[in-house]
Amino acid sequence: MDFKDKIFKLGGDVRNSAGKIAGDAIDGAKKAAEKVKINSAIAKSESTIQNAYISIGKKYEELHSNDPERVFVSFLDIIEREKENIAQLNQELAAIDNAVVCKKCGKYVQQGQKFCSACGARQDETETEFIELNPEKSSKDSEN
Ligand SMILES: [Zn+2]
Repeated sequence: MDFKDKIFKLGGDVRNSAGKIAGDAIDGAKKAAEKVKINSAIAKSESTIQNAYISIGKKYEELHSNDPERVFVSFLDIIEREKENIAQLNQELAAIDNAVVCKKCGKYVQQGQKFCSACGARQDETETEFIELNPEKSSKDSEN
């Protein structure tokens, strides 16, 4: 094999290994894409299961909150406690903006707004609770 042949052979080897590397890269990319697709399908199924579990829990609360089986009492207590906490926090939010709290859903709405933007309930004095921005000062005092 003379020098020219050696160079020619080397060029061929380089081409072949470059081709193999490119082929492996394409193969790797295909495998990675396939794994992403499968993982995404798994995540979707897991999410659907989670939502079904949540629905079971909500339905149980709806049907049995007054007569829960013993094993569910602590969970229902947690939900009740956190709902009260959320209501309290919404009142704090409302107080910051001198807003009112929707009695239907507990979200706060700006004073003067006719409907709750969260649940659509009509907002008037019978359905909302006015939050005193400054409890020390009554609304009668502010008339001056
Ligand atoms: Zn509402």
